[in-house]
Order: sequence, then structure tokens, then C-alpha cells
Amino acid sequence: MSVGGETRSMSAGNAIPPEEPAAPPRTALHWDYAPAPEATDHLRLAERYELFIDGGFVAPAEGTARATVNPATEETLAEVAFAGSADVDTAVSVARRALPRWEGLAPLERGKYLFRIARLIQERARELAIVESLDGGKPIREARDIDVPLAAAHFFYYAGWADKLAYVTAGRRARPRGVCAQIVPWNFPLLMAAWKLAPALACGNVAILKPAETTPLTALLLAEICQEAELPPGVVSVLPGDGTTGAALVRHPDVDKVAFTGSTTVGKEIQAALAGRDVGLTLELGGKSANIVFEDASIDQAVEGIVSGIFFNQGHVCCAGSRLLVQESVLDEVVEKLWQRMQRLRVGDPLDKNTDVGAINSAEQLARIEELVACGELEGARRRTLSTALPERGYWFAPTLFTDVSPAHRIAVEEIFGPVLSVLTFRTQAEAVEKANASVYGLAAGIWTDKGAKAFEVAAALRSGVVWQNTYNRFDPTAAFGGYRESGFGREGGPAGLRPYLRVS
Ligand code: NDP
Repeated sequence: MSVGGETRSMSAGNAIPPEEPAAPPRTALHWDYAPAPEATDHLRLAERYELFIDGGFVAPAEGTARATVNPATEETLAEVAFAGSADVDTAVSVARRALPRWEGLAPLERGKYLFRIARLIQERARELAIVESLDGGKPIREARDIDVPLAAAHFFYYAGWADKLAYVTAGRRARPRGVCAQIVPWNFPLLMAAWKLAPALACGNVAILKPAETTPLTALLLAEICQEAELPPGVVSVLPGDGTTGAALVRHPDVDKVAFTGSTTVGKEIQAALAGRDVGLTLELGGKSANIVFEDASIDQAVEGIVSGIFFNQGHVCCAGSRLLVQESVLDEVVEKLWQRMQRLRVGDPLDKNTDVGAINSAEQLARIEELVACGELEGARRRTLSTALPERGYWFAPTLFTDVSPAHRIAVEEIFGPVLSVLTFRTQAEAVEKANASVYGLAAGIWTDKGAKAFEVAAALRSGVVWQNTYNRFDPTAAFGGYRESGFGREGGPAGLRPYLRVS
């Protein structure tokens, strides 16, 4: 009995439990990210920002001001003064007066100012990243890890060049151009300001910066940084405003150099307005860049590059890889893996550190994206849009993929400037090159292949200012950036980025 009892108790201890629902296979992940919002409590935005002229903040002559809003919530962040033509006049004459002293400063000393600005950007990095994300809608992860560190890196890099300009001009005498008008767009407000200001100042120029209407805040914080760095008054002015401010600035008769980043339409207008005048001009305009995937590429790696190529900064990127060219033999595999990968993208609160795709910058830009996407459907392309809950307020567009796209479709030709990818196919290397070059633009391209020789051959045949191999959207202050054809002319970054700011005799 005791044995039997033991047996019972043993068998009770090892009893097979009543049947339960089968546990999910261990390979599936059934957890989600907890919210990880960036704290904003230490941020002190002013209620109103004025124009930055002659080293101080001043009210605009006409008293105009507009609200700048958070595109993720539509809430007002601050009132920002808008410069009119009288303010443009003042800023240009102040800059003209400041020029001789700045130009005459020992180059090493100029470099020290740039170095100080770089250090102050680093010191205020967290604040700058949050404001960039609030004002523009971009994910905090990108503002924190890309925009702000790269802006500091540009000032560091050009600080080093200030006393070495003779190496850029091969020993020939060079002088600064003079008063520079610099107009930047809303997709990388601080970074574009750094791209423009750092080389201009290193060469001994003075500059007037006009930030975009929807994203003026980090440029105004950069103005505070110029004050903190004790940059001599008038060397940098910041004039927030709209297109009319920009138009007045580039047409001002006492401006010596214009640097513009923005749409091809406005770029052409500026070029026409400056025709016949001895004003240096660089234009960094739009793009419809081809990202080319060959059958010998590592497909998983390519899929990551395709995703960062088009969904980085909501696709508000001039060099976005918005035309995906895939070799026919791997089309199904690429599209399937890409669509799977897209399911993992997290769209929403830009201040959440887990967010991959933030808010669209403005209602106007959202309307433009929607119009082009609707056109893609009408023209017969197959649309897939990520099904994800979007916030009720703010401007949002879920990542979208178009297949069955023909090269004549508007979504294959026009810059959408949003999280929308058009997939086209090719059979041979020659056809890939021909299709990639069949664009009015020529800003950037990506090549995905296992074969080094093929990558070099294709890169040489592409009419693109930048070509990335087995990667995409990599930026570095030491590398020149710029386009061909309707993507503009002139280079920013690297030693080449100094030339447009110098008059070589
Ligand atoms: P714009 O070219 O209008 O804006 C770029 C900058 O130029 C802004 O600071 C803008 O001021 C200013 N500006 C506008 N009109 C004039 C003018 N006549 N003279 C001088 N400066 C002017 O671009 P949008 O913001 O309207 O965007 C439209 C399209 O352009 C996008 O959908 C996208 O396709 C493309 N784009 C390309 C960019 C790039 O990096 N290549 C960047 C931004 C846009 P304000 O902000 O007040 O209009």
C-alpha cells in the first residue's frame, strides 16, 4: 500500500496538467515597446522671438509676427517676428559694415569663433534636438543622433579650414565674397544653417540667414549661440520670414553671394533674378534619386538601406531614395521583405525615442503628398500603405509603397518629399543606368551589389552628385554634396564647399 501510496504521490507530482492552450511559438515576439518620451521640462522656449540683427534681438520695422506650430499637435510653440524689406535693408548694411573687421581678422582667430560655436552646439545639444523635433515633426532619435551632431561637426570641420584656405586655392590669392544671403528649407533647419554658415564664416564672409517659415526656432537658438560665442555683431544675422523675405534678400543690390536650398521652382526664380549680376550663386534643389538593387546584393542589407533611404525624416529629404530600381529576378523577394520590414516602422509622437516616422512638416506638404499619392493610384500603380493608428491632431502620412509603377507615372517623376516609395524594375545593368539617369534631377543614388567593380562602373555612369554603395543617406562634413541638372549646382561640404565663398584672383 505504502508503495502504491508513494506511487500515487509520485505520479501526482509528475502529473501531466490538464490541457492548456498551446503557448505561442518562441520565435514570435509578442511584446511592444513601452512609450519612451523625451522629457521637455527643462526646455525654456520664449513666447516670442525677434529678428537677430547686429548682435542683438530686435523687433521688425513693420511689426509682423507669426506663430510657429508643432506639426504633431498643431499647438503654437512661439510667436516669431517676420522680417520685411526694411529689416532686410538694415541687416545687409549692418553686415556690410561688419565685413572689413571680420575679413581682416587673423584666420586662426576666425577659426576659434567657429570652434566655440561648435562647442556651444554640443553643450546645448539636447535642447536643440528637442526644439528641432517640436518645430519640424522629425523623430527625436534623428534630431538627437544626426541633425545636431552633424551641425556641430560642420562648425568643427570648417573651424579647422579657416587658416588653411591656401590649400583649397592651390596657393592663389583668395578673398571672401562678402555679404552672403543664405536661404534654408524646413527639412533640416539647424543642419542646413550649419552647412551654409560654417564655410562662409571660415572664409571671412558675413552672412544673413533666412530660415523657413515653418521651422525658424533652431536658427534663432543658433543666433543665441552666436551671441554666447561673442561673435562680432553683424557677422551673422537671422531673419525669419516667408518667401517674400527670401525674395527681398536675394534681390538686394548689396548682396555678393546667394546660397539657396529648397525647391527647384524657387531656385530657378532666384537664378533668373540674379542673371547679369556678379553675384555668386549655389543652388541645392530637389531630387528623385534612384536606389538600385542588383540581384547579387545582400537583400536583407538592401532592405534596411531602402527603408532608411526613403523613410528617414518622413521622406522630407532632397536626396531621398524615392525611386527604387530592382532587378526583376529579385523583385518579389525585395518587395516582400520590404513590406514585412515596413510593418515594424513606428509612426507617431516625434518626441518618443522609439518613433521611426514622425509628423509631416505642414498641412501644405501633407496636401501635396496626398495629391501625388492619389494620382499614383489613378494612374494604375498598386498602393500599399502601412495600417497603423495615427494621432487625431497634427499632420500625418503612413509609410507607403507603390509597385507596378511605370517610368512615366508622376510618382516616378516628381519629387513627393514624403514617406512614399515608387518601385520600378530593370533587367540589365545598362537598363538600370538608363532608367536611373532618366530624370530631370541628378542629386543622389544608391547602388546595392556584392560586386565592387560593378558598383564603380555604375557609379561612373550615373549623373548623380552623390552615389552611395551598399548604404544610403550617409552625411559627413568632409564630403562634398550637390547635384547636376535641376538638382542645382555648386557643392557644400568638404574643401569643395569653401570655393563658392571665395573669390580667387
Ligand atoms: P521653397 O523652395 O519654397 O522653400 C525653401 C526656402 O526658400 C524657404 O526658406 C522659403 O521660405 C524660401 N522662399 C520661398 N520663396 C522664395 C523666393 N521667391 N525667393 C527666395 N526665397 C524663397 O520650398 P517649399 O517649402 O515650398 O517646399 C516645396 C517643395 O520643394 C517640397 O514639396 C519639396 O518637393 C521641395 N523642397 C526641396 C528641398 C530640398 O532640400 N531640396 C527643401 C524643401 C522643399 P518659406 O519657408 O517662407 O516659404
